[in-house]
Amino acid sequence: MSESLLFVDIDTQHDFIDADGRLSVPGAVELVDALGALTAHAVANGIPILSSADAHLPDDPEFAQFPSHCLAGTAGQCKIAVTLTEAPVVVTAAGVGLPQEQPAQTILEKVTFSMFSNPAVGHYLERFTPDRAVVYGVATDYCVSRAVEGLIERGIPVIVVADAIAGVTAEGSRSALERFEASGVTFATTEQIVTGHLPA
Ligand SMILES: [Zn+2]
Repeated sequence: MSESLLFVDIDTQHDFIDADGRLSVPGAVELVDALGALTAHAVANGIPILSSADAHLPDDPEFAQFPSHCLAGTAGQCKIAVTLTEAPVVVTAAGVGLPQEQPAQTILEKVTFSMFSNPAVGHYLERFTPDRAVVYGVATDYCVSRAVEGLIERGIPVIVVADAIAGVTAEGSRSALERFEASGVTFATTEQIVTGHLPA
């Protein structure tokens, strides 16, 4: 039996990815082709996608540190077109909306950096435990880091797609990548993932 993968797509939303987004991550717009290729590969091969998405309220504590972004109900909060599939299932930040059957794409809303702040994520990973998680998106030094750390803590091996991530600062990204490596994360390119040449 082939190994079960879960694609973990972090915060690929208009405000973070696009050049005119409210908190555009440097270099993120250049990831769009890779993000689209990963999504298409998942759809074509029946690989489930767990997509985290900020869904902020105007007075969220995070806005003390960062400019306002991804406000619930705004265009900026929407996922970019290439990381959206036909019928995504949304689980609210309160953890409401996770079905019994694993959706092809689950959009897991959140109001802090970590997708593990959503109370449904633990149930999701217990119910639909993958052999490995393939993580990509933004930002390497914030939300991607928290996702990788949380997956590793739960004993799920992680592949980070090195050319499908971008960070807020070069320094922060570098130290995140060092931490990933130290915690046993393996790295792959988008090309390796979409051609099925996964690292050992
Ligand atoms: Zn945020």
